[in-house]
Order: sequence, then C-alpha cells, then structure tokens
Amino acid sequence: MSGSEADRRIPNQRAHTRSRMSIDEKISKTLNDLDAISPEAIGELFGEVTSALESERKALIAAGAGDGRERSQKVKDLRDRWLARKGGLVSLIDENWLKKAPKELKPAVGRAFNQLRQVATCVDTESLLQEVRVQADVPVRLVAHAGVEFTAEVIRGQDLTLPGYRQPMGSIHPVTQVMREIEDIFLGLGFSIESGPEIESVYYNFDALNIPESHPARDDWDTLYVNSETVLRTHTSPVQIRAMEKHGAPLYILCPGKAYRHDNPDSTHATMFHQVEGLAVDRDISFADLKGTLDYFARKFFGDKIKTNFVPSFFPFTEPSGELSISCVFCGGEGCRVCKESGWIEVMGCGMVHPEVLRHGGIDPERYSGWAFGLGVERFAMMKYDINDIQLFHQGDVRFLEQF
Ligand SMILES: [Zn+2]
Repeated sequence: MSGSEADRRIPNQRAHTRSRMSIDEKISKTLNDLDAISPEAIGELFGEVTSALESERKALIAAGAGDGRERSQKVKDLRDRWLARKGGLVSLIDENWLKKAPKELKPAVGRAFNQLRQVATCVDTESLLQEVRVQADVPVRLVAHAGVEFTAEVIRGQDLTLPGYRQPMGSIHPVTQVMREIEDIFLGLGFSIESGPEIESVYYNFDALNIPESHPARDDWDTLYVNSETVLRTHTSPVQIRAMEKHGAPLYILCPGKAYRHDNPDSTHATMFHQVEGLAVDRDISFADLKGTLDYFARKFFGDKIKTNFVPSFFPFTEPSGELSISCVFCGGEGCRVCKESGWIEVMGCGMVHPEVLRHGGIDPERYSGWAFGLGVERFAMMKYDINDIQLFHQGDVRFLEQF
C-alpha cells in the first residue's frame, strides 16, 4: 500500500465520522475540522444543510398548528433557528465555514453560502406563515368551498362530532301573529276578511262615517293629509263603508290593516299602527249581539278567567257607543300600576252602527241594524306579551323579535 493511499483513508474515515454528526454539530465546526477541503466536499456539505432546512420546513407545514398563536410561535422558532443574526445556523455558517475557510476555497464557499442564504428565505416569517395551516381555519374553508374541498386532507385533524352551522330562521312578527289570532276567532264565527286602501279619500275616512267637516270630532284624529281631499287613513273604518257598498246586507266582516296618525311617538303612540275593526249588519241585530260576541272574543283571546265590562262612550259613527273593558290581565283585577289600581283595562271602542253610516253604505237603516268595534293590534300584543313600549314593534331589533 503506498503512502498516498494511506493518506487518503484518513479523510474517508473522517468523512464517515462526519456523516454521523448532526447538522448543528457540523455547523459548529470549521471546514477544516470537517475535512471538507475540496470544492466537491463543500458542495456536499452545503447540500446537506439545504436539505436539512427543507425537511424542517416541510415538517412544520405538515404538522400545522392548532391555532394562530401556536402557528406564530412555531414559525418564529424555525425562523430564529436558521436566520437569527446571533446564533442562527446561517450566521454560524458564515462565522465558522466562510470566514475561516482557507483562502483558495473562499470563492467556492462564498458562492455556496450565497445560494444558501437565498434558499433560507423560505423560512422567513412572512412566507412561512402563509404555508402553515391553522386547524381552526379549516371549517371556514369547508364552508367557503362546501362540497368542493371536502377531502380527507382538509378534514384531517378536525373534530367531526362538533355541531354544524345553524342557519338563523325568521319568525312571524308579533303584531302579525296577534292579528291572525284575532282573525281566526272571528273567522270561526262566520266573519270574512275585507281590506281597503291606506291612502283614502276624505269622504270615506270622515264624511261617510258621519264626521262632517264642521264636526268637532274630526279634530280628534291627528290626520296626515296627502292633499285637501286625500289622507292616510286614520282608522280602518273606511273599509266598512266600502264593504257595505260592495256587498250590501247581511254583512259580517273583519277589517285588519294599518292606520296612520300624526302622533308624537312615545311608549304608547306610533305614527303607524294596526287596527282590526269588525262589523255585523243583519236584520234585528241588537246591543245584546254586540255584547255577547265581544265577550266571547275577549275570553277566547285573553283566557276564560277574563271578565268584561261595557262603559258608555261617544263615537260619531255609532249610537249608542261603548267601550269594552276587561279585568286587568296583569293583576287579575286586584289593582296595579298598569290598570291604575282600577282592576280594569279599556281595550276597544264599540257600538251600534249609526243609521247615517248605514245609509252612506247603501243599506236601509229601517230594515237593517248593525254593530261595530275597533281595536289596536299593538295594544293587544302589548297586553298579551307584557310589552311596555309600542316602539319595539317597529324598530326591527332582532333581539326583540326573535323572542316570538
Ligand atoms: Zn292591574
């Protein structure tokens, strides 16, 4: 064996030892220590460094992170390990390999080092953050691409027993619910539903209802005028005239709908509100029919324990007129703040249809008589659901509406 062959065995043994060192250990030594004294050996060393960098980066991407904070930490750790100015592997290679390289190898080491520095930008924070997937993000992606990206890879690591996504469901507005409830009770008694225009003529809104222009009662309604002959109807009563004209007698109708008044909004007044009016016209209709029907209705709506009471009142379109009170739904008639300690709450106006009104509807008051009533739907809903502010019905606040 020649001397030169023996010499060559030593570097081979060193190379063998070198292959068992970790990449960190290698970087802590000089090229001379590692016996990397040829351009090939240097190329091989830098190749090892590059593949170590690549596999650490891939391992992090494959593992992902549980949440954003864990991801930031993991990305920072890998970035610092390689790119920290002090103690980062790239900077140690600069110190231990490049700066301490023998003069004749410096150009080769310098070139390899520059390439490594470029490759190493793949672990800088910005580029890596985009690649590491946070598991909490995945369900969002599933929703965004429902049916498209639902692959094993996407759902890996997800808890498929978690509850699904709930679609919020709408509900029927409490005013509509109460209006339908009232309608149902009267439909059961053989009444039918009538509707009419909300922009109404002064004739139908006032004159035909026995409220001529000179009549002081016209001031009782804070009317919103469109022009001198047209108003936003202040009550649903014009529908009664229109229905009498259209169908004649006998007539049993219910007129639910919107009404408008120039009221200042407060907890019991709104510019727009809902009414239900009822009208019964037939032969021999008496006040007893009115009392019996409204008593039945009040019990059906508020419950059997309710007592009713009729108090005389005045309306231009009925004669005689009355107001229906029910025993207080809040205190059961004991007396409370809502019923002003009286035990009674007034819930609607009613009376026998004025002969003049029947005549305006084309019905002969000598042959027919009738009764009518009118109630505020919001007010009924407030009593039924114990709501203290009418404005809540019209504000569209989901937190309020979703309770119904
Ligand atoms: Zn009370």
